[in-house]
Amino acid sequence: MSPSKNKVLVVGMDGLRFDRLQAVGAPVLAELMASGAYGTSMLPYGEAGTPRTESPGEVVRKTSEPPAGGRVIRSRTDSGPGWSSIATGAWPDRHGVVDNGFTAPQFQKFPDFLTRAKKARPELNTAAFFSWAALAEHGAFGPAVDHRFVLDGYAIGWAEADKQVAAAAERHLAETDPDAVFVYLGDTDEVAHDLGPHCPEYTAALQTQDAYLGRLLDTVRARPSYARECWTVLVTTDHGHVDEGGHGGVAEEERTVFVIANRLGEHLGGRFLAGPRLVDVGPTVLAILGVAVDPAWDLDGAPLEL
Ligand SMILES: [Zn+2]
Repeated sequence: MSPSKNKVLVVGMDGLRFDRLQAVGAPVLAELMASGAYGTSMLPYGEAGTPRTESPGEVVRKTSEPPAGGRVIRSRTDSGPGWSSIATGAWPDRHGVVDNGFTAPQFQKFPDFLTRAKKARPELNTAAFFSWAALAEHGAFGPAVDHRFVLDGYAIGWAEADKQVAAAAERHLAETDPDAVFVYLGDTDEVAHDLGPHCPEYTAALQTQDAYLGRLLDTVRARPSYARECWTVLVTTDHGHVDEGGHGGVAEEERTVFVIANRLGEHLGGRFLAGPRLVDVGPTVLAILGVAVDPAWDLDGAPLEL
């Protein structure tokens, strides 16, 4: 029998606070944690004393000067820096996205993990589904990705966008043969900006996204070739939120992020990962796909031990 084919599904949920996730009960994510491995870490950046971003795409003017000495990563705890770090495996001072303005992205030098996988192994089939169109416009997930499904969450609403993104990803997983897939869900962030992360509406948004994730996993498990495949699932977020809603600053609630990893059909022990970082997501995907990280790439992340 030939070895199983390694495949990866990365699901990003915008502005998802891990403490809220643990508190409110999201059955699919809870099961991924119980049979997988997971942990939290703190983003190594945030702009102290500046106004918090109030909507997903809002650019807030920087006013602070970087402190002196050492490697100081001067960036807001916003979506642009977070998703760019997840995509590239490098921190904002390297990939160049320090707020939601995307004024000087370095995605030629630091391409996303799907683009890197495709370049190393052209036979791989890559796909990305998201509703924050800026990620496509600025190339955080670049044009070399085989299949990009891009909606505008501002235009159609984030909840509706999530529904359509999930449906499109579900079809793709059922009907094609992807090797690496990224799916973005954004309503958690939108609701937290409006109402904060402690309201029933945030719980509902999280549970809706949890249900979409469940459908994606069911679809994967129902693939005719599933018995010959080994699927790793990674779930992460780009930043947290302060209690009253909003992010960009240095509070622990804004800087705390998480990574949940699971290998479908295997038990990873429900163990804690020691400080998994956003920049580890890309290298983890590449390692699973058999693509060695070249030191010349100058990445900050390293593959998680799963
Ligand atoms: Zn965000």
